[in-house]
Amino acid sequence: MNKLELIKKLRNNPERFWKVKLFDELGFRRKQCKNCGKFFWTLDEGRKTCPAK
Ligand SMILES: [Zn+2]
Repeated sequence: MNKLELIKKLRNNPERFWKVKLFDELGFRRKQCKNCGKFFWTLDEGRKTCPAK
Protein backbone atom coordinates (compact mmCIF):
# COMPACT_ATOMS: atom_id res chain seq x y z
CA MET A 1 0.00 0.00 0.00
CA ASN A 2 1.41 3.37 -0.97
CA LYS A 3 1.10 6.58 1.03
CA LEU A 4 -1.73 8.01 -1.07
CA GLU A 5 -3.87 4.89 -0.63
CA LEU A 6 -3.20 4.92 3.08
CA ILE A 7 -4.28 8.55 3.41
CA LYS A 8 -7.42 7.80 1.37
CA LYS A 9 -8.28 4.90 3.64
CA LEU A 10 -7.76 6.93 6.77
CA ARG A 11 -9.95 9.69 5.41
CA ASN A 12 -12.77 7.33 4.44
CA ASN A 13 -12.95 5.36 7.65
CA PRO A 14 -10.20 6.18 10.12
CA GLU A 15 -11.78 4.48 13.13
CA ARG A 16 -12.34 1.19 11.36
CA PHE A 17 -8.92 1.16 9.77
CA TRP A 18 -7.06 1.73 13.02
CA LYS A 19 -9.12 -0.87 14.85
CA VAL A 20 -8.34 -3.47 12.21
CA LYS A 21 -4.64 -2.63 12.28
CA LEU A 22 -4.56 -2.83 16.06
CA PHE A 23 -6.33 -6.21 16.09
CA ASP A 24 -3.95 -7.49 13.44
CA GLU A 25 -0.92 -6.39 15.42
CA LEU A 26 -2.27 -8.11 18.51
CA GLY A 27 -2.61 -11.37 16.59
CA PHE A 28 -6.38 -11.41 16.18
CA ARG A 29 -7.94 -13.09 13.14
CA ARG A 30 -11.10 -11.95 11.41
CA LYS A 31 -13.54 -14.80 10.95
CA GLN A 32 -17.11 -15.33 9.75
CA CYS A 33 -19.59 -16.98 12.09
CA LYS A 34 -20.94 -20.34 10.88
CA ASN A 35 -24.24 -19.72 12.66
CA CYS A 36 -25.22 -16.16 11.83
CA GLY A 37 -22.72 -15.15 9.13
CA LYS A 38 -21.41 -12.15 11.07
CA PHE A 39 -17.74 -11.25 11.03
CA PHE A 40 -15.88 -11.20 14.30
CA TRP A 41 -12.34 -10.99 15.65
CA THR A 42 -10.79 -13.78 17.67
CA LEU A 43 -7.45 -15.01 18.96
CA ASP A 44 -8.71 -18.60 18.69
CA GLU A 45 -7.72 -20.02 15.27
CA GLY A 46 -10.18 -22.92 15.57
CA ARG A 47 -13.20 -20.81 16.46
CA LYS A 48 -16.14 -21.15 14.03
CA THR A 49 -18.82 -19.00 15.65
CA CYS A 50 -19.05 -15.47 17.02
CA PRO A 51 -18.87 -14.95 20.79
CA ALA A 52 -22.16 -15.98 22.40
CA LYS A 53 -23.96 -13.31 24.36
ZN1 LIG B 1 -22.84 -15.80 15.21
